Amino acid sequence: MKTWKRYRDDVYILWNGGSESLDCFFWQLNYKHPRIEFTIEREVAGVLPFLDLSIKKLPNKLVTKVYRKETHTQRYAHWRSNISKNCKLGVLKGLIHRAHQLCDLKEDLLNELQLLNDVFVSNGYPRKLVERTINNSWKVELKKEIYASLHEEDILHQNEEEENPGYFETLQAPYIAGFSERLAKDLNCINVGITFRKGHTLSNSFCRLKPPCSHDMQKNVIYCLGCKSCPQVYLGETQQWFPSRRYQHNYAVKTKTSTNGLAQHVMKTEHTIDWDSTIFLDSDSHWRRRKIKEALFIDSLNPQKQMSNIVINLEKGLEISDCWKEFNPDIRKIFCKKVPGKISKN
Ligand SMILES: [Zn+2]
Repeated sequence: MKTWKRYRDDVYILWNGGSESLDCFFWQLNYKHPRIEFTIEREVAGVLPFLDLSIKKLPNKLVTKVYRKETHTQRYAHWRSNISKNCKLGVLKGLIHRAHQLCDLKEDLLNELQLLNDVFVSNGYPRKLVERTINNSWKVELKKEIYASLHEEDILHQNEEEENPGYFETLQAPYIAGFSERLAKDLNCINVGITFRKGHTLSNSFCRLKPPCSHDMQKNVIYCLGCKSCPQVYLGETQQWFPSRRYQHNYAVKTKTSTNGLAQHVMKTEHTIDWDSTIFLDSDSHWRRRKIKEALFIDSLNPQKQMSNIVINLEKGLEISDCWKEFNPDIRKIFCKKVPGKISKN
């Protein structure tokens, strides 16, 4: 064996022992462990694909180019699809960069770039934009290559810093064509970056592939527990499955734990907590965003510094900037919709 290159579960082997001994080696490999099963693919006319490379064997070297499966559809997000322009351009630039990286021969590279040109134009991208991006890529790649060959990483980083001043914070928001670009520009002025997240789509509105589970069986939630005897509510967030969290609250009430808001409310008023009708206000798997959402809901119900008689919570949760107060009426509306009859919309 001349070469053994592995990436995760794909192995590329150069074998110079003949076909029969390769069969024997392959059999030995599969004999090693009952749960590991290798499959084998042999070169055809000196060419063998490996990952996204097509590797061709020449008498004295190997040359590579981009490999696509026969079944590849050449479909990318259409230019008119509701995705930010930067993302769409990023796909094109990424594939152009891949072509430069993977094609050893100039002829292959030119073919690949021509293919990308045709593919992206047929995906609705403006012809001029595609051509310009491909033409610019020679300069961009050359620049990268020069920096890399000089090993002057510092220069590269310095340059990146100049082009990209670095962000203090990043906002994540759904993408709204036209508006989001302007917003990104304005935020850029105050060093805030923006990333776009998928909003409501027909697919996620209609296709609910997960089987429904019991109402309480949720985790990563911002929840609202009410009092049976008065209109006060407790707002909390948890990463755990909600029944575990509810059990902890219940235990705190039983053991009269004064640091727990619900327990203190029961101790002070002898009211009963409505354990069975929890309402989930929102969910988020990211702990910080969950904390922020919890704090937003609490602040919308309790905008002053002291705790009011609307919420049972002892504290306001994560400290958030005052600029959020602007959204309090909207957050109250969300709350009223989810928890009807507890507070007035204003
Ligand atoms: Zn109460």
